[in-house]
Amino acid sequence: MLDIQAIRKDFPILGLKVYDKPLIYFDNAATTQKPTVVVEKIRDGYYNVNANIHRGVHFLSQAATEAHEEARRKVQQFINARYSHEIIFTRGTTEAINLVASTFADAFLSSGDEVIISAMEHHSNIVPWQIQAAGKDIAVKVVPVDEKGELCMDAYRRLFSEKTKLVAVAHVSNVLGTVNPVEDIIATAHNHNVPVLIDGAQAVPHMRIDVERLDVDFYVFSAHKIYGPTGIGALYGKEEWLDKLPPYQGGGEMIASVSFEKTVFNELPFKFEAGTPDYIGSTAFAEALRYVEGIGMERIAAYEQELLRYATEKVQSLDIPVRIFGRAGHKSSVLSFLAGDIHHYDMGMLLDRLGIAVRTGHHCAQPLMQALGIEGTVRASFAFYNTKEEIDAFADGLERVIKMLTKR
Ligand code: PLP
Repeated sequence: MLDIQAIRKDFPILGLKVYDKPLIYFDNAATTQKPTVVVEKIRDGYYNVNANIHRGVHFLSQAATEAHEEARRKVQQFINARYSHEIIFTRGTTEAINLVASTFADAFLSSGDEVIISAMEHHSNIVPWQIQAAGKDIAVKVVPVDEKGELCMDAYRRLFSEKTKLVAVAHVSNVLGTVNPVEDIIATAHNHNVPVLIDGAQAVPHMRIDVERLDVDFYVFSAHKIYGPTGIGALYGKEEWLDKLPPYQGGGEMIASVSFEKTVFNELPFKFEAGTPDYIGSTAFAEALRYVEGIGMERIAAYEQELLRYATEKVQSLDIPVRIFGRAGHKSSVLSFLAGDIHHYDMGMLLDRLGIAVRTGHHCAQPLMQALGIEGTVRASFAFYNTKEEIDAFADGLERVIKMLTKR
């Protein structure tokens, strides 16, 4: 289906050796590698198009402005938003959630109100709400996760009250890989007239997202997790909500006029983009989206599912009891596990010496670790440039580490 060897040539870093071993990069949920077209786009931006945008009358400034706005239209089209002004460029998922938490709280939350999140959230979708909760006496309610790693939807439905003002949950868990039933989550919230923010950081790289079809109010994600540059991401917000929210930061670009008596804020999307935006990053972000579209999201999803199935089988057939965290029916290509009583950190360190990059620890989801009763896991996360041969080498590596660390 996919010509993986040809695809791998698009990612020069995959040819690296570490400790004299071929790099096996299984830390894609943390960040993905970048294809040459993305790196070239950044280079080309600085060499040929660089000028500050939206302000200049000169040629370069207009070219850079057009490139940035074209990038916005690309993001809009990629997630099927209605208008390009519903796309706000942010520094990433984290800043996008902070933007919504802060401005939504300013406009709509007061003492006694409630926000619903889930037990499988990344810290990025917990702490911003806690900050608002502490300042305004707001309660953060948590949807529990069952033993398979799925959200308890009955408990979710029971959490709603007159005081519920917003739901904010992950589309896909970065630890468990669980793909949450966001259609149901959104429809349930809307039945209570409650808007929904979906953290799409781990979903956008793996499946086609259609914000119109989802009818979601806010959807956020990071470019670097979908083969784009670091330091940029997107907040999608329905026009009706973005119009109602106050600005997040003050500064240049977000104003229509300023005097010491009165400042008039700019229209969408500029109201939320104070200061010089990352107009080089935005064009490289759009290039990454074009790149994955060129391969095809459906084909990417199918191949990654095959990698996940293969890796899960391999890990389960190790010569030691293995606990896999995340056994949802609908999962993305994330495999979190613990082998015997081997500490996740030891496992990660020794795999690293074999050239295999996995993540270990709490994965910025400490409340989930507490719910699972563990300190951390080993997490292998796969992208479409990974191969079954790499998974074989990973399984061999695991066997070696297990032999080294267990006395038999
Ligand atoms: N949400 C989820 C589910 C994530 O996996 C991550 C990053 O791992 C984030 C939010 C934060 O993304 P960023 O650090 O790019 O802002």
